[in-house]
Amino acid sequence: MALVTLRQVLDEAQKGGYGVGGFNVNNMEQIQGIMEAARETNSPVILQASRGARKYANDKFLYHLMLAANEIYPNIPIVLHQDHGSKEACLSAVDLGYTSVMIDGSLLEDGKTPSPFEYNVQVTKEVVAYAHARGVSVEGELGCIGGVEDGHGMGDGASDFLTDPDQAVEFVKQTGVDALAVAIGTSHGVYKFTRKPDGEVLFMDRIVEIHKRLPNTHLVMHGSSSVPQELQDLINQYGGKIKQTWGVPVEEIQKGIQHGVRKVNVDTDTRLAITGAIRKYMSEHPEAFDPRDYLKPARELVQQVIAARMRAFGQSGHAGDYTPISA
Ligand SMILES: [Zn+2]
Repeated sequence: MALVTLRQVLDEAQKGGYGVGGFNVNNMEQIQGIMEAARETNSPVILQASRGARKYANDKFLYHLMLAANEIYPNIPIVLHQDHGSKEACLSAVDLGYTSVMIDGSLLEDGKTPSPFEYNVQVTKEVVAYAHARGVSVEGELGCIGGVEDGHGMGDGASDFLTDPDQAVEFVKQTGVDALAVAIGTSHGVYKFTRKPDGEVLFMDRIVEIHKRLPNTHLVMHGSSSVPQELQDLINQYGGKIKQTWGVPVEEIQKGIQHGVRKVNVDTDTRLAITGAIRKYMSEHPEAFDPRDYLKPARELVQQVIAARMRAFGQSGHAGDYTPISA
């Protein structure tokens, strides 16, 4: 068994100067594709489940699928991470056996309204106390990351909710989080930018400023799928209707990694890969009716896309850096 905490992985990543993808999972094929990419590239892995994923798959199904990955790939260190949890979701994830949780106190309990700083500090502190007492790592968030999942569409340079560097110092001091998600203009979902992002809409400078003030805090980039043109084209070539959109270019993520970004969240790219592969197969094989026939190429394309990210983030070759917590 090689379950590890987020803290362990990001501490090693800091020493090695690389980033580690946080890849969202909802079902077996996604987990298999990501794990095969990790095997192929010899990478540590962060498997993360949102509240929506836990609800979709059922807590027990999803958790045991991740445990199966851990049994099948004993040489790959795996973090089981709760993505964007409420306090309740975080505590239940700790109780369930996750090794890391993200408390998203940047929004009130409705999951929509930006919260006051004091509220964020308080709820994050409570989760840190519970999680750390049980050996579980905590990621916090300061500033608001826009997008479909949290209801307030930002994108394209809405700078009001960016992370304030001075506040970030105060937040980390008061909460004791292991990692901090920062808002720099990225958003969740497929429609992130209406043009190739530049410094007017993607505020990489914020990362540099925050890292200068917090050199020992692991920074997290959310909404960091690259939304590759070829995946958009693949979907649209086979009957899809994705409107032209731009994600976060890999070279911008690499710039972030040079300035303290250690965890990079990627979800949309996996979704696009699955949809594109299934559309292609269905279109070329209209007679097909066995789900295995179209889920297999979907799983293979997930592997290909994720392996490319693992290499680009620099985590490839680093699976051996860790001592498992549950040997
Ligand atoms: Zn996020």
